[in-house]
Amino acid sequence: MGFKKNSIITINKTITPLREIDRYKPDWDIIKSNIDKYYFQVSGISRVLPLLSSRGCPYNCGFCYNNYFNKSEWRGHSKEYIYEQIDVLKKIGKISGIRFFDDIPFCNLEQAEKVFTDIDIPWGVGIRPNQITEEFVQWVKKTKCFYIFLGAESGSQSVLNKIDKKCSVDAVKRAVSLLKNSNIHVRAGFLIGFPGETKEDIDETFNLIQQIDKGADNIDFSITKYIPYPGTSLWQKTLERGWEPPVTTQEWGDLMKSGFNYNVTECDYSDINYIFEACNKIINIII
Ligand code: SF4
Repeated sequence: MGFKKNSIITINKTITPLREIDRYKPDWDIIKSNIDKYYFQVSGISRVLPLLSSRGCPYNCGFCYNNYFNKSEWRGHSKEYIYEQIDVLKKIGKISGIRFFDDIPFCNLEQAEKVFTDIDIPWGVGIRPNQITEEFVQWVKKTKCFYIFLGAESGSQSVLNKIDKKCSVDAVKRAVSLLKNSNIHVRAGFLIGFPGETKEDIDETFNLIQQIDKGADNIDFSITKYIPYPGTSLWQKTLERGWEPPVTTQEWGDLMKSGFNYNVTECDYSDINYIFEACNKIINIII
C-alpha cells in the first residue's frame, strides 16, 4: 500500500497475508438499514448476498491477482465462523441465497462438504474444473447449491499451459459432462485476448463452447477479455508485446470505460473486431 501526504510519497512494506482470518468480520451493521440496496440477482434468485468461506488460492494462474495479492496462500474460515455469518445475514434481511466469492472454496474438502451440506439456504460458488469429480457432484447435488461458476478460461490446451492454469481442456469437458442436466445453473467462464494468443487458439475456445453447449440446458457461458494486472506472471509478457499500461488510477478507470481496447494477441486487430464478432457469435449460441 502506498500513499501521498503533503507531497511525500510513502510505500509501505509488503506484508504477509492475514492468517487468523476469523478475527476479521464484515461490519454488517453498516449496510443493515439499507440492505435492499445490496441484494443482487444470481441465476433467477433475486435477494442474494455475498460471503467468503476462505481467502486466497494456492494456484498461480498467470492472469490472476492472487499470486501477488495473497502470495498463493489459501486460508479457510472455521465452520463456526461461516455458520455465524450466515445466521447474521439471515437476521438482517430476507435473503434468498448466498454467493460465496472465495477465490477457491474447496481446498479443505472435508470441512467444505460438511458446511455446504449444513447450510440451509441456496448457495452459489466459483470452482476450478479439475475440482469437479463424480464424488463432488454427488454430494453437491444433495445440497442447496443453485449456481456454479466454472473457471474454464480457454479451449486451447496451449493457452491453458501458457497461462499456467494447471488444468486440461479434458478436465473442462469432464466437469461439464458431470454437471450437465443437474438442477444447478453452471456458467463456464472463458477469457480471450491473452498475450500471444492466436486466432486458432480462440477458434478452439469457440469450438469447445459449441461442443459443451450441446444438450446441456443448465449450462451457459461468459466471455471476458484478458485484463493485465501488475504483479501477475503475464504482466511482463503483456508489456513485451508493446502494451503501455495506464499510470494513474484515472487512466485505469478510462481503460475500463473504453472496453479494454488493446491487442496483445497474435490476431490482427485491424481484425480486432474478430474477437468481438466472435463474441457475438457466442451470444447467439447462448440465446
Ligand atoms: S484463477 Fe482461480 S485457480 Fe487460478 S489463481 Fe486465481 S483464484 Fe486460483
